[in-house]
Amino acid sequence: MLYTDKIIHYTSEERIRVSVALTKNITEAVRKCHKLSPVAAAALGRTMTGALLLAGDYKNHEGVSIRIKGDGPLGAIYADAFDTNKVRGYVDNPIIDIPLKENGKLDVGKAVGQGQVTVTRFTPEKTTYTSQSNLVTGEIAEDLAYYLYTSEQIPSTISLGVLVDRDYSIAASGGFLVQALPGADDEKLAQVEANISNIGAITTYLSNHIDGEGLIECILEGLHYKELYRQNLHWQCTCSQQRIESVLLSLSDADKQELLKDPQVEMTCHYCGKKYVISQKELQHLYNC
Ligand SMILES: [Zn+2]
Repeated sequence: MLYTDKIIHYTSEERIRVSVALTKNITEAVRKCHKLSPVAAAALGRTMTGALLLAGDYKNHEGVSIRIKGDGPLGAIYADAFDTNKVRGYVDNPIIDIPLKENGKLDVGKAVGQGQVTVTRFTPEKTTYTSQSNLVTGEIAEDLAYYLYTSEQIPSTISLGVLVDRDYSIAASGGFLVQALPGADDEKLAQVEANISNIGAITTYLSNHIDGEGLIECILEGLHYKELYRQNLHWQCTCSQQRIESVLLSLSDADKQELLKDPQVEMTCHYCGKKYVISQKELQHLYNC
């Protein structure tokens, strides 16, 4: 079977919702684009997967932006999920390298450090809601679950994982989000928690089951559930010449005058690395001078 990145949403009669995201291709694409070190690839892959899972949990929302700002060497991590199945992201310091943990795993928590996670949700009416919570471990999954609980009052379990191969390519990437809907049975929730701990590390599971097969059966074992819908996932940017022009138009008059002195203005998109070049003539035209 040909592998594709995807998100699958499930619901159970016991009022528990689960979303499973498979993001190997997306994390590999962003790793190559930003030349990410293994720990940076793990941190950004987890955050982008988390953004897709959070974006999918309300159908009436247009998108989610996550910013994880810790005091570790990685700097800030940014991820935007939009149209329910597209994502982009970057980190401040893509090439940092830090020692592995004693168990041989990448130390994302240390690379991120202590700080805050900020989540902004966009509605179709263009309203935005932004909330913040403290980072718990810097390992991303626990931080997002804590955010959902403290800021949105949604009891959730999140698991996120990225496995980096010896040649630094991405061997596995993905995760899942489990949410208790109002009225969910405590006993069934405890069963799901026990099921999840039986799964073990998500990276190990996904490296053995590249298409995530069998994962939902493990998470919701003993419950009555059905698939709601599934979508393929894509790494995509929202930058364009028009957006660059609107940034240039929003500058102060003093900054505009400064830019007009240059023979051309070069701007590079942080998210996808695309370079935009605006000639002095084009800039004069844009500024009506
Ligand atoms: Zn871009």
